[in-house]
Amino acid sequence: MKLALFDDHRLGAVVGGDDDSTAGLVDITDALPWPHDPDPLTAGWWRRLCRDFDQVRDALRDAAAAGSPVPLDEVRLLAPALNPSKIVAAASNYAAHVEEMHGVQQRTLGRVESWMMHFDVFLKSPSAMAGPCDEIVLPAAELEAGHEIHHESELVAIVGRGGKDIPVAGALDHVLGYTIGLDITVRSPADRSRRKSHDTFAPLGPWITTADEAGDPADLDIALQVNGTDRQRVNTRDLLTGVGEIVSYASHMMTLLPGDVLFTGAPPGVGPIAPGDVLDARISRLGRLRLPVRDDGLPGDGCPTDRAVATGTA
Ligand code: MN
Repeated sequence: MKLALFDDHRLGAVVGGDDDSTAGLVDITDALPWPHDPDPLTAGWWRRLCRDFDQVRDALRDAAAAGSPVPLDEVRLLAPALNPSKIVAAASNYAAHVEEMHGVQQRTLGRVESWMMHFDVFLKSPSAMAGPCDEIVLPAAELEAGHEIHHESELVAIVGRGGKDIPVAGALDHVLGYTIGLDITVRSPADRSRRKSHDTFAPLGPWITTADEAGDPADLDIALQVNGTDRQRVNTRDLLTGVGEIVSYASHMMTLLPGDVLFTGAPPGVGPIAPGDVLDARISRLGRLRLPVRDDGLPGDGCPTDRAVATGTA
């Protein structure tokens, strides 16, 4: 299934296609066997859905098949995660990206931080999440300081059943599904948590494709275009540490809770973004996530249905 959050944090099933030009959405909120709560901060109904999805899958699937889909441009899609306890993100997880970071760090830091060249996980603030109808807002202070702010387009796993000390074998059973994430990052000497946690620096979407439908997470094509130009293109078979291994590794450090968000690492091709840019990320079988970039001195422009071209807000 493709599970979406939309409008007043309602639950939707996306049907009829992988791309938002052909797909529609069915409101399946009322098929939940427990009360829905539109308050995004409590989020208990959502965590329960993540934890117990196997128990309600058939009822939700039936409701999706019985309902009448509305065109996607008639709803406001939200990030397909609600108040997760944490965003865990993998670093240095594609060899070609690790290689390119030597040059990026030399340019932006004047030195290479060798400790950052090895796989590990770090935390990004959940308040950085943004949805498919939002914008990426670049903080004026970072722009005025002359720091580059980069895109990273990543496969993201949403935790279903959580756990501690999860063995690698069976770790993928703890994943509810997958979505597209942009790990927006300031290149500066500050700590990762500061550089990657500004509001809107964790866009997610367009929805969760559940694990059974997403297929092998080690065979997904990731492609990112900025203003129509290719920036990143990779297959997840090149991940140095696979999704199951990341789940296991992180869970040996901290208990993973239902609904937690796991970024799996940046492919090669990271680079600067600027106000006026439009980021267009696609992952096979997961859909497409398009967001414009602006600085924090300009108002947003709602949710245009066609974001294939720059919006000209620079
Ligand atoms: Mn990243």
